[in-house]
Amino acid sequence: MKYISKGEIIAIVALLLVSIILIITMSIEKSGSVAVVNYKQEVYYIDLNTNSNFNLTDLVKDETPHMTFEVSDGGVRVTYSDCPGHDCIRQGFIHRGNEIIACVPNGVSVVILPQNEKALDAYV
Ligand SMILES: [Zn+2]
Repeated sequence: MKYISKGEIIAIVALLLVSIILIITMSIEKSGSVAVVNYKQEVYYIDLNTNSNFNLTDLVKDETPHMTFEVSDGGVRVTYSDCPGHDCIRQGFIHRGNEIIACVPNGVSVVILPQNEKALDAYV
């Protein structure tokens, strides 16, 4: 019977740690962390790092279509909309840069900013 030495265990653990860190870093880079909600030529920035639910009326104070969004695990989706068809709800979650949810009847779109664009201080 061959036993694993202490040195080998340390090497394996170190390798595992490095791969875990790599996987985490890569998955963070793949997904955008800011979404932009467009409505009537106004833009609203949504932080995708914090899980939340919000209504369009939370962003736009005047009379707006009724839409509810959910932010979860770096993605965003429409959970409720009073538009006909509900195509925006059926689109489900978007996670990656440049992915878009469009609600044409309500004139609302949500797009995830790609990481490189975010760096050009797109924040307000
Ligand atoms: Zn819609």
